Amino acid sequence: MPTIHNLEKRLRSYLDDDQIAQVVRAYHFAEQAHEGQYRRTGDPYITHPLAVANILTDMHMDHASLMAAMLHDVIEDTGISKEQLAGEFSEEVAELVDGVSKIAQIKFESKAEQQAENLRKMMLAMTRDIRVILVKLADRLHNMRTLGALAPEKRRRIAKETLEIYAPIANRLGMHSLSTEFEDLGFKAMYPMRSMLIDRAVRNARGNRKELLNRILESLQACLEREGLQGKVMGREKHLYGIYQKMRGKKKSFNEIMDVYAFRIIVDKPDTCYRVLGAVHSL
Ligand code: MN
Repeated sequence: MPTIHNLEKRLRSYLDDDQIAQVVRAYHFAEQAHEGQYRRTGDPYITHPLAVANILTDMHMDHASLMAAMLHDVIEDTGISKEQLAGEFSEEVAELVDGVSKIAQIKFESKAEQQAENLRKMMLAMTRDIRVILVKLADRLHNMRTLGALAPEKRRRIAKETLEIYAPIANRLGMHSLSTEFEDLGFKAMYPMRSMLIDRAVRNARGNRKELLNRILESLQACLEREGLQGKVMGREKHLYGIYQKMRGKKKSFNEIMDVYAFRIIVDKPDTCYRVLGAVHSL
């Protein structure tokens, strides 16, 4: 179980003592405010804001964002006002917490794709400070990771919202590993059977695939070297929800989905890009 003490240690890698002390103070304030409240998992409520702050620490977010993470449910759930937070901490932190609370009040009852698009736009537009969105995304990520504790109906509603609103926003912000995790967690909660079957199919098919992934990677690297081209080669397997969307969109069976791998070659300029493309084509 993560503790504030562990977080403090992690923060020393990029924040100064004063900033860390402020984060710790926000933690203790939130701990007191949520006193007596528990998560559906049975854990004391404070474990949630602490987990959100840990996610934002992975992203190396600034101390004000981490303080907002600690305090993000305080206005909603404990009746402490924005003004009180401004007095206790700063106007900046109070604004962030208030922004996160306001997003929570938007009603996501989207049925149509169109409407989901409008909601995404609205959410981005009403937020003057992008850090509000990042705190909200981290909040949602922790809720998705602990989704199992909720009743099925509520679980599905949150999963749907995550797939329609949060995953695309994370993707638009260029946070791909975040959007991938949103998609796989959302997929699993929305369609447990489909997710399980695809997961099993991928495992079965994988057998020698991991090996194959490396062989392709090495041959691409060797090819660049032979041609004297500079580039960074990265390979990955498609994630479950990506495969599912493809199967559904193109009405194909799992065995017909050929592109379960993707490779990316990062180069310095367009000229190199075309040279690399040529070299790969002739490989
Ligand atoms: Mn929360």
